[in-house]
Amino acid sequence: FTTEAGLYTASDQVVVLTPDNVDSVLVNSTAALVVEFYASWCGHCIAFSPVWKSLASDIKEWKPAVDLAAIDCANQDNGPVCSRFGVRGYPTLKVLQLLHSTRFPRNVRGLRHKIIDKMETHAEPWPPACPPLETTSRAELKTNSVGHLALLFETSNSYVGRELTLDLLQYENIAVRRVLSTEDGLVAELNVTHFPSCYLYYPSGIFTRLHVRTFYTYALQRLPGVVRAGKPLPVTSDLAKNTTEDQLRPFNRSRVYMSDLESTLHYSLRVELAAHPVIKGEALSTLQRYISVLAKYFPGRPVVNNLLKSVDMWLKGEKDTELSYSSLRDALDNTAEVPNAALPEGVRWVGCQGSKPHFRRYPCGMWTLFHVLTVQAEEAADPQEVLQAMRSYIHSFFGCRACATHFENMAQESMSHVGTLSSAVLWLWSHHNHVNNRLAGALSEDPHFPKIQWPSPELCPSCHGVKNGEHTWNQAELLTFLRSHFSSEHLLSDYLE
Ligand code: FAD
Repeated sequence: FTTEAGLYTASDQVVVLTPDNVDSVLVNSTAALVVEFYASWCGHCIAFSPVWKSLASDIKEWKPAVDLAAIDCANQDNGPVCSRFGVRGYPTLKVLQLLHSTRFPRNVRGLRHKIIDKMETHAEPWPPACPPLETTSRAELKTNSVGHLALLFETSNSYVGRELTLDLLQYENIAVRRVLSTEDGLVAELNVTHFPSCYLYYPSGIFTRLHVRTFYTYALQRLPGVVRAGKPLPVTSDLAKNTTEDQLRPFNRSRVYMSDLESTLHYSLRVELAAHPVIKGEALSTLQRYISVLAKYFPGRPVVNNLLKSVDMWLKGEKDTELSYSSLRDALDNTAEVPNAALPEGVRWVGCQGSKPHFRRYPCGMWTLFHVLTVQAEEAADPQEVLQAMRSYIHSFFGCRACATHFENMAQESMSHVGTLSSAVLWLWSHHNHVNNRLAGALSEDPHFPKIQWPSPELCPSCHGVKNGEHTWNQAELLTFLRSHFSSEHLLSDYLE
């Protein structure tokens, strides 16, 4: 019988239950644990697994109150856990202690509503980390002392207020309260005419009326002073000071800088690769592929392009089956016989600066480099050329090995489906967002540069849309935006030597 890996991996935001961890997960959880019991061979479970993964990304911010888990009952080792919870059909959802059902919505929105319903209709046991989701009144508001107070006016059957409350659960200095459309005093005071709609009660300010929680979430998370709990408040005055090594160079957050791309090349070619004194076999073909893609598509200054082309020619002419790093380094640095070719030494991060030395920088540069390359490769014969070069570089050389494993898992799942140059650009965008979602709130997140689902509605309003009351990405608009944002004409050359 199967003991293979199930439908979920460590890179999904789903707790994978096993006989070894089930008790500690149950005992230690202060959240409502929503478990999918499935069998990995069952077609309905396979069809449902993308929905479960999407829901996990979608309600990631609810984690203190709601946690998603899954267990593969087809794995013989897990059998006793599945029978302990009385599961016989698959998939079965169980909000532990609250719900046991094989009949549930098969879409993200319906599942969100179902989870909220279940939590609300069962006052006991209310997950300790879950805030009250009931509506508020004018009298209660007077006692509120939080930094920002967002009032979400809605009709009684709307879920937006409760969803937004849970979305902001991990943030400090902000509270969301639901106000029913029948709460005449407040409705009149703020002159509310549309439901749902969101208002900042104090300090007063009005958001554009938007029906979809995602837009409110973007807007509220960006208010001054609103930070994820446990993260230091970004101190803007520090950034202007000229004295500390943490000082940031002035830059435009909505642009891409050539200086970051050249810094990335320097770090990758002179630091990261230097950890491999001998390069052979798969690593050698990876290096050749990487340099070839750079030589073809890097939209650099002529001097850098000449260097990349000369290294590419040298590598293609090498007949040995192994290469010493020192010979690569010679090709990079000893360019006396190649006119006007060089890669500047050292790093100068601009758009990829971090507020502390351990934040951002090289990995930010790596993402940016490959977004630029997927966009530049508009004439490529093979739509996967750049993606596969990135995949193999990350796999063979990227210093963060856990990142490499996660990226390889994503690549294995879907990179082979990329059939056009446009879908290569979108594949990298969507999988980068997947990583952003997973890392939001992690220790490695720079509080000055919170991980968001990018681009924000401010950066690209037309990339965002609404369908059936849910946020959607407009892929055609996104493509236009990405092609312009990462285009060579749009690159800024400030701070280059
Ligand atoms: P980054 O995520 O590095 O993004 C850089 C810039 O790209 C952003 O400032 C923004 O302008 C733009 N951008 C953001 N999202 C998108 C998007 N969807 N499409 C296009 N442009 C976008 N760190 C871990 O802790 N664990 C991991 O598993 C991990 N895996 C990684 C895998 C790869 C392949 C890479 C290159 C890095 C990985 N990292 C991982 C590092 C992490 O993703 C970030 O690069 C790092 O935390 C720095 O974050 P940042 O704020 O500079 O933004």
